[in-house]
Amino acid sequence: MEKVVMKFGGTSVADEGRIQQAASIIIEEVQRGKQVAVVVSAMGKTTDQLLALAEGMNGNAEDRELDMLLSTGEQVTASLLAMAIAGRGIEAKSFTGWQAGVITESLHGNARIEEVNAEKISQWLASGGVAVIAGFQGMDEQGELMTLGRGGSDTSAVAVAIAIQAGACDIYTDVEGVFTTDPRLIKDASKLSEISYDEMLELANLGAGVLHPRAIEVAKNHQLPLRVRPAHTEGQGTIIKEVFQMENVQVVRGIAFEDDIVRLTIIYDTPNNGSLANVFTTLAENHINVDIIVQTIMDEERPSVSFSIKNDDLAQTLEVLEKEKAKLAYKKSDFEVGLAKVSIVGSGMVSNPGVAGEMFDALSKAEIPVKMVSTSEIKISVVVPSVNMDEAVAVLHKQFALQLAV
Ligand code: ADP
Ligand code: ASP
Ligand code: MG
Repeated sequence: MEKVVMKFGGTSVADEGRIQQAASIIIEEVQRGKQVAVVVSAMGKTTDQLLALAEGMNGNAEDRELDMLLSTGEQVTASLLAMAIAGRGIEAKSFTGWQAGVITESLHGNARIEEVNAEKISQWLASGGVAVIAGFQGMDEQGELMTLGRGGSDTSAVAVAIAIQAGACDIYTDVEGVFTTDPRLIKDASKLSEISYDEMLELANLGAGVLHPRAIEVAKNHQLPLRVRPAHTEGQGTIIKEVFQMENVQVVRGIAFEDDIVRLTIIYDTPNNGSLANVFTTLAENHINVDIIVQTIMDEERPSVSFSIKNDDLAQTLEVLEKEKAKLAYKKSDFEVGLAKVSIVGSGMVSNPGVAGEMFDALSKAEIPVKMVSTSEIKISVVVPSVNMDEAVAVLHKQFALQLAV
């Protein structure tokens, strides 16, 4: 019997009416003769509200307590949805992440799933019932509760799909599918009918919030096709899979953006490669994620290195740099806030060398200053002032004719 995993995000289960609507979509799949496992997010803005409650109680709450609190959000949805399905005469049972056998590493707030022991779920599905599983959570080997990081229910859904050997994993959400960029920002963004794992992974890592990056990574590793579909209307959505094309018709497939970036610069008196290695090791040891790194050493000039981090990490980064100043042997450091990153993504870029030039030309015509650049085979990112972020996305969307993409 065909098995499918259906995941419903926060907006798609935000209130009683939406939960009933999700129940209807699920029951349609059951009536098509499929075994259905459902993975749910917390209702609407519940996770944010729980975080605000915690902040009011203790601004420095332990990560363990935060996980205890946040994991309740998904459990509320799971039980309500199971009740809604059962109320229509179809057997349904809710499961917490750990009841569903989701085992994670021990890392509160951002744990990776290590395995899913799905016997219990598989038995329930085989008996004809619908399993409704709380996403975003699991348990470590010590029996401690862990959450997977914001947006992590997508990854729960993919992990469950692989464990029960489902043929498909459908991510139901509040937009029609994956667009060339966030349709809330660019009104003429186009919905893509399909996109490759690699392109989607880049877009998600570079700020497109529509899918949790780890969900795409795990799906790619197991070659599980993912589908992003609307929960509120009919529609085929977007399929994310390995895409083989003789020629890439569209060089740029999508644009992602991320605000609240900071550029730090470290200036030395003399060339100092040893210190350079130490800077990034020291930051990594302090769990500070460094993104773009730019270094230029010119004769007769003091060498310097610039790198970008997220705003949230600024205070800690400055603290670490100050504390380790003697060891890192630099002369001074400086930083610039109010920056954003805008990235164009497309696997056709590998064989089309003109793309970077076209990107910089379009930005320069719009008088948008570029502060940093970083490239890989399938993406080009630029750091621009935050005030220019929306315009940069619009300019590039138009430049690469993404309103015509399919
Ligand atoms: P859910 O609660 O269903 O998990 P999310 O809010 O996490 O939903 O993700 C859906 C949102 O992702 C959309 O409302 C949209 O604003 C945003 N988004 C960002 N980039 C894209 C994109 N390229 N395509 C579609 N949606 C995008
Ligand atoms: N509820 C969690 C969040 O808001 C997880 C999720 O929705 O995927 O981030
Ligand atoms: Mg999401």
